[in-house]
Amino acid sequence: MPVPKKKTSKSKRNMRRSHDALTVVNTITCPNCDSPMRPHRVCSSCGQYRGRQVKEIAQETENNSNEE
Ligand SMILES: [Zn+2]
Repeated sequence: MPVPKKKTSKSKRNMRRSHDALTVVNTITCPNCDSPMRPHRVCSSCGQYRGRQVKEIAQETENNSNEE
């Protein structure tokens, strides 16, 4: 099994980790159910996108998914 010859220095370790930071996911408020959602995506809590029901949500309280 190959083993590194030298211990990685703090500088090299930190240089490698300089690209490891996570970015904050941008969220908008759903115009239908006011829950946070990512822009340009189907809302995960109500299943709507641009006013249309795109996805069936199992635990939906109101049964208004069959309008169209
Ligand atoms: Zn929604």
